[in-house]
Amino acid sequence: MHDILPQQSPLWHHIEGCVRQVVHAYGYDEIRMPMVEKTELFVRTIGEVTDIVAKEMYTFEDRNGDSLTLRPEGTACCVRACIENGLLYNQTQRLWYSGPMFRHERPQKGRYRQFYQTGVEAYGLAGPDIDAELIMMTARLWQLLGLKGVELQLNTLGSPIARAAHREKLVAYLNKNREQLDEESLLRLEKNPLRILDSKNPAMQQMIEGAPQLLDYLDDESREHFETLQSLLDAAGISYQINPRLVRGLDYYQKTVFEWVTRDLGAQGTVCAGGRYDGLVEQLGGKPTPAIGFAMGMERLLALVEAQGQIKPAAGADIYLVLVGDLAMQQGLLLAEQLRSALPGVRLLSHCGGGSFKNQMKKADKSGARLALILGEDEIAQQQVTVKRLREKAPQRSIGQDVLAAHLKELLQKD
Ligand code: ATP
Ligand code: MG
Repeated sequence: MHDILPQQSPLWHHIEGCVRQVVHAYGYDEIRMPMVEKTELFVRTIGEVTDIVAKEMYTFEDRNGDSLTLRPEGTACCVRACIENGLLYNQTQRLWYSGPMFRHERPQKGRYRQFYQTGVEAYGLAGPDIDAELIMMTARLWQLLGLKGVELQLNTLGSPIARAAHREKLVAYLNKNREQLDEESLLRLEKNPLRILDSKNPAMQQMIEGAPQLLDYLDDESREHFETLQSLLDAAGISYQINPRLVRGLDYYQKTVFEWVTRDLGAQGTVCAGGRYDGLVEQLGGKPTPAIGFAMGMERLLALVEAQGQIKPAAGADIYLVLVGDLAMQQGLLLAEQLRSALPGVRLLSHCGGGSFKNQMKKADKSGARLALILGEDEIAQQQVTVKRLREKAPQRSIGQDVLAAHLKELLQKD
């Protein structure tokens, strides 16, 4: 679990602001769910033999003896919240959420035990048009963040019936090649054989290449859905790669699944992943409701924005107010208040704690501020303030306090 330090916050704000701008533009509304749910919710939805449920959840008993879990992901929570609050009753919903998720994974770059996800979920819409909308939404976000080289991988898992037919053939094939399976795959063979196709073990790749492909077992409806989605993406100019081995780590997906992947983050290259989960609402006690969603790993997005060097929002202040002497300390606090009222959005750091002029100027410089305002005995006597530009060569100037705000506005606008 990691701290987000003050120098990193501006970049977080920037990315979160871009996310908000995009989901807003598509008419999605925010939902905020609790961070703790009954353990059963995740076991039933994500699937008992998935990595998350089998070995990654933070599960504990509360004082009543109920088994609770820190949420490892948001989709199950969102569905639970929607059912509980009647949000899916005869209506569609377009929702988004953002917040920390918890998984007890082996920590490494891009993989944390508390990490932030922003997720988007759409309910009550069965067609491929909403699938395309979600993908176009993410593409717009990459563009807004100035990201390059994030590639879309697309697959369909078909209907549960098609999956079952494929599973039978797959298990037969894998059993025939049993001696080539590693330990983890042997475990998966019984309960979740599709996930073996997702194995990164180089020794197994050739055997996996030859396995029966789900795409060959697709039902007509899933095939048509997938083809229409592709034509919608083609029309929108969004390129993609069909990856028949993309199966996703959670059990509840069917039909469309997708991931946005970058090569710039090493092994943890998936920044966004999602898919259709038409059966989940009903499984959790709601009416049958088609659903699709995705989640983005915010730390990975942040790392990517940093790696590609696009944006560097800085921490610190715009203006540093230097206050020399006791009288200046008194008057300075009031002057600072007036300036904050007159200059909305401007960050004014007022010096506290006294000290020499030289010392205060050092702090002004370190704060990153573009302007230092100096208030000392002379300035007070003449109702003025000395304005010094810290980032460029320019003579300092004495400005009357009555026109100070207007003068500063002009200086700050000049870039
Ligand atoms: P992975 O294959 O990387 O383990 P996953 O399939 O477990 O990913 P999802 O549950 O689909 O991931 O989560 C969606 C996104 O959340 C991922 O694509 C990734 O960007 C991010 N994410 C998942 N787990 C972590 C983690 N432990 N630390 C940071 N980000 C994560
Ligand atoms: Mg994982």
